[in-house]
Amino acid sequence: MRLVYIKALRVKKIGLLAVAAALALTLGLGSVMALYEAVPATSWAIANRLIIVDPGHGGIDPGAVGYNGLLEKEIVLKTGKQLQKVLNQAGADVVMTRTTDTELNRRKREDLALRVDMANKKNADLYISIHVNSFPSSRWRGAQTFYQKNQPESKKLAEAIQSELIGIMKNTTRKAKPEDYYTTRNTKMPAVIVEIGFISNPAEAKLMVKNEYQRKLANAIYSGIANYYAEKANETPQARQ
Ligand SMILES: [Zn+2]
Repeated sequence: MRLVYIKALRVKKIGLLAVAAALALTLGLGSVMALYEAVPATSWAIANRLIIVDPGHGGIDPGAVGYNGLLEKEIVLKTGKQLQKVLNQAGADVVMTRTTDTELNRRKREDLALRVDMANKKNADLYISIHVNSFPSSRWRGAQTFYQKNQPESKKLAEAIQSELIGIMKNTTRKAKPEDYYTTRNTKMPAVIVEIGFISNPAEAKLMVKNEYQRKLANAIYSGIANYYAEKANETPQARQ
């Protein structure tokens, strides 16, 4: 009788262990997923930073018009809001240059000047402008980050973001590139323009209108920003003279 009882107990114990192991696996995996869904471990690096998120164009200015009549201004606004969300989750303060389908000024140059002024007057830590690329040939594709030439900090930021776009999106091999743009030239903080993809490429255009894809892009940009700050924290302090 005793033996049978012990045997039964053993079976029970093994059963319980199996349940516990299955639970741990599920929960463990779940929490890892949750962490990935929320923010990476480097989020401490961006807490309390003031970040300008600038979805390009808006209102009377549609930006690039692509495959199937898709509009740049709509894609970048949605992606910008996703970026705002993930940056907020990490404790950053975000100022959006626009949150609706409106231009800041009907004249293009004034519109850009207002975006730059907003960043400079608020003394923001970073300026992240989101755009969509377009090209006459439909075969070009892939997200790419641009920075103002001769701005070393902007270059570091652009490279950090581009590296995450390559790693997370897995569909771009483009490199961060120096360019001369009004906004990145005139903002007084590290500034980048992220062209999140080519609206002239039908396959990429179809991806860019999807919430899930926009969220993934936002996570990649966020990750790049976090890495940029984490990297800065690791830099050897310079001797003061
Ligand atoms: Zn644009």
